[in-house]
Amino acid sequence: MAENKHTLSDLYQMQSLSLDSKISMTRRRIQGWIDEFGEDGVYVSFSGGKDSTVLLHLVRQDYPNIKAVFIDTGLEYPEIRQFVRTFSNVDILIPKMNFRQVIEKYGYPFISKEVSETVDYARRYVKALEAWKKENEPIPESKMPYDPQMADLLGIERRANKENPEYQNLKNGIMPKENVRYQILCGTFRHKEKGEQTDEISKMYNKSKYKFFLDAPFEISSMCCKVMKNQPIKEYAKKNNRKPITAQMACESKLRTQHWIINGCNGFEMKSPISNPMAFWTEQDILQYISANRELLIDWRIREIEKLHGCPISEIIDTKTGLPAFPVDSLTPIASVYGDIVVDYASCGQIPGQIDFSDMGYLENERSLKTTGCSRTGCMFCGYGCHLEKSPNRFEKMKITHPKQYDYIMRGGHWRKYRIFNFKGEEISLRHCTHEQIERWAENNRENIRFKIEKEDFYLDGTGLGYKEVIDWINENGGMGILY
Ligand code: SF4
Repeated sequence: MAENKHTLSDLYQMQSLSLDSKISMTRRRIQGWIDEFGEDGVYVSFSGGKDSTVLLHLVRQDYPNIKAVFIDTGLEYPEIRQFVRTFSNVDILIPKMNFRQVIEKYGYPFISKEVSETVDYARRYVKALEAWKKENEPIPESKMPYDPQMADLLGIERRANKENPEYQNLKNGIMPKENVRYQILCGTFRHKEKGEQTDEISKMYNKSKYKFFLDAPFEISSMCCKVMKNQPIKEYAKKNNRKPITAQMACESKLRTQHWIINGCNGFEMKSPISNPMAFWTEQDILQYISANRELLIDWRIREIEKLHGCPISEIIDTKTGLPAFPVDSLTPIASVYGDIVVDYASCGQIPGQIDFSDMGYLENERSLKTTGCSRTGCMFCGYGCHLEKSPNRFEKMKITHPKQYDYIMRGGHWRKYRIFNFKGEEISLRHCTHEQIERWAENNRENIRFKIEKEDFYLDGTGLGYKEVIDWINENGGMGILY
């Protein structure tokens, strides 16, 4: 096994460097990456957020024509999508499915990637197990549904050795009593110490508090990121033979820290090489950079807009209004959805107006900064991590800043008491109707259709994404207090 590139103390040491030192180190890493793959062999992963805007600014200072790539999932803030479209040389990728199709086919992205994946696979396992038990007959060879997924779920090798007896057993419906993910979900997975199983129940893998999701009347799943982001970017990188430069920072998660310790900033030896030249930056570095380079960033945006339109910015006219499309005094250094960058007096322990050393010119860079608008601009509708946020959380803020989008995601979920079938026994799809239309239609067509009263279940009508019902159910059954 290859040795780790760094240690955790390397990270702390690098994180404590001055912003100027970090900028120089980042530029050297970018240069190293481009020396290896060439300008045409790389791209900047550009989400339109503040981190990747800083990255693009740094890269384009030395390589003005470097390609940037944006994935338009339809889930970004409208201000972010607009902002991205003011930069030159950006390839925009559109996923094959939209968010609604993803949640209908796979499930909602709630709690976290790990939890939603665990729940998703555990549910498939349980379903398959129940179906098999119901049959009570030996299952004909290869007829067991989900056998490849089940094998992956259980960690049973099926690719290199298709004849693996454990995999063959699975195909014939013979399953181990308890699989690892199910144990994780039930909190019975035993902790491993240096590869050896101990008697201790693992806390890290204990997802038992999310066991209630097994009975959820809707699915939760980690497929959303795969379909909306990973697939389009993978296809793009393969087709164009380009390697990514991203603004990922180790401080964002344990997993990213781990990746940095193993691979360093430039993962040349990785199976899918990736450069994270700002891995040792912190959130505060990003805000300090934007605050210190405000004018420079605005000048750069003007040059980008002019490059994109091929004329001076003053000559670009909005065809609807007949007025300048980009009034220079309205340009912001980063997407407008962030608002302004201001001193975070509360986190400095200072009362606004109170004088401290920073006001006297000392320790200027020691002050904590914050944005007055959104602090994060990932996918607007993502439910990951919302259960950990204090009020006002993302949904409460969205209700005020983006009421249309808020209304759309909250509406549309219903508990149905019946499903409607035609005379051939085929279910009639109701997803393009409102709940009220369905009720009315069912009433008026009592003689022409067949009703089937089933256990009450959850469905979406065509008007929204049903978050209100989903969050209510999670709060009620999981004892969570997600606000909206
Ligand atoms: S961040 Fe959330 S909403 Fe966005 S693609 Fe990933 S799972 Fe989906």
